[in-house]
Amino acid sequence: MNAPDDIVELYGHRMRRDWAEALQEAQDETHLVCEGEVYPKIAYGDETFRTPVEADHEPCRHCGTIKGKFHWHACDYEQCPRCGGQMMSCDCEFVGHEWREEEA
Ligand SMILES: [Zn+2]
Ligand SMILES: [Zn+2]
Repeated sequence: MNAPDDIVELYGHRMRRDWAEALQEAQDETHLVCEGEVYPKIAYGDETFRTPVEADHEPCRHCGTIKGKFHWHACDYEQCPRCGGQMMSCDCEFVGHEWREEEA
């Protein structure tokens, strides 16, 4: 019961419970802060660093989010709202995201 690897349904498809919860938490964070500037996060389907054609008919293949929702924090497909690059590999340091450094 309520095990992290339970399969639950979110956004119309099935995923692990811990993943679904992390993805829902990502929706609560709508902006990122860097050096005192606030940047609105870029939702799945709104990226400009690639052509998100699949957003219209399928969830993000990396994190399972759906069009119009935010990606999970470290998703390959999340675009950085500050530099326009890939969030995972850009050098912007957002408040609360210091853990990115530690995971490297
Ligand atoms: Zn994603
Ligand atoms: Zn950046």
